[in-house]
Amino acid sequence: MRVRLSSTNSSSPIPLIATTATLREGAVKEGIFDTLAIDPARHHFIRRSNWRREIRIVVREMQSAASAAGFRELEWVLSSQRNTVIFCRTIGLATRISTHLLSVGIAKKLPDLDSRIRTFTAVNWASQNASYLQTLNDNPHATITIATDVLSVGWDNRYIQDVIIYGEPDNIDDFVQKIGRAGRDRNEVSDPRAILYVSKHAKAAAAKAVEGVEASLNRPSTPCTNKASNANEPPMDISIAKLILALCYPAEIDTQYGNQLNEPLCSCMQCQQHHTTSAKPTPSCNCSGCKPEDPSEYQLVVERVRRARAKRGQGISKEMEVAGMKRFASLRKEVFQDARKKDTLANVGFLPPQAFLSNTLAKAIIKKIYYLDTKERVDDVVKGTELEGFSEMVYDVCVEVREMFETIRAAAKAEKAGNGGRTGQEGESEGDEDED
Ligand SMILES: [Zn+2]
Ligand SMILES: [Zn+2]
Repeated sequence: MRVRLSSTNSSSPIPLIATTATLREGAVKEGIFDTLAIDPARHHFIRRSNWRREIRIVVREMQSAASAAGFRELEWVLSSQRNTVIFCRTIGLATRISTHLLSVGIAKKLPDLDSRIRTFTAVNWASQNASYLQTLNDNPHATITIATDVLSVGWDNRYIQDVIIYGEPDNIDDFVQKIGRAGRDRNEVSDPRAILYVSKHAKAAAAKAVEGVEASLNRPSTPCTNKASNANEPPMDISIAKLILALCYPAEIDTQYGNQLNEPLCSCMQCQQHHTTSAKPTPSCNCSGCKPEDPSEYQLVVERVRRARAKRGQGISKEMEVAGMKRFASLRKEVFQDARKKDTLANVGFLPPQAFLSNTLAKAIIKKIYYLDTKERVDDVVKGTELEGFSEMVYDVCVEVREMFETIRAAAKAEKAGNGGRTGQEGESEGDEDED
């Protein structure tokens, strides 16, 4: 490109001006310089930061993976009075989160759920998304938008207060773009927040990624193959790894982007009107690295049921699980029809039967089936899940499923006995020996 512009020979050189956003220092910047053949000695580099320092960055660890019903850690959003957008990696995840929030909202009898909770993904019709954006942009009241990447760039909603990113972003650029949706207009939002939920293994993966890069730097002659990581799992992007491990998140952003801390404020009309830039660091950083959150404030996830080893005669075989899941699938239909009959649940029409009992929850109940032998225990376990309010029905099904399991167990035993030889069955069904 530079060659074609040929400034060296010409008497009046043609200046080349290149502009970009979210340009990291290091390899990314050098790559662009290389591509444009910019001479390191003959260029001006002007960096301006649009980073809004009042955004409080909070990093939390996901609890869902192990919990009975998914996404409990996001349920606080339902009672939050703040305009919130939740970014999800996939359309599937976005759908599951919105289904979960809707069903919990219904259980809690929250008003206006269908206008409050919306998904915004590439699956929707473009016209549908456009009209939704319009209503959203004009709506200063608390809404919950569950979105995929389609909404992360170029969306200018001045009322968004909280941006939640559910899962590690691809890289720090992705992170910065997404959290930039919060507090775009200081006249409307004074305390924007960015909340990143990382998976339980994120810190370990981040440490591994940083280690891998450092190791390859110490061996300058060998190509950067990153042998430290698993062959089948790509290492975490180094920019997001460093962010996750950072002691202070805004400081890490400043480092990676080479932000100038004493940059003068932009004096253009737009910036002055909306007070959109702030170069100076706030005197005391309030990110969750500098000011850790009190987990009891936000962690709604309580492991209500202690894990216990299966007692004798209570092991659950694959066959039992399949049969149990079938029974819960028909419970799902019963619950769905029951909810439809009750006029109080005006939102049911919008929900798929899955919303009333996810497979995850059914599996979790089956696992605990021998624990769930009192109505109180069932009550306790379904509280806050999509089955809240249906614990009578759940209890009855639990009784039924336990009986079914006994039948299956007895049949399996009889078959084994019928096969004669007592050899080669050690280790299977420890619960057998106690009855003679
Ligand atoms: Zn900090
Ligand atoms: Zn400006």
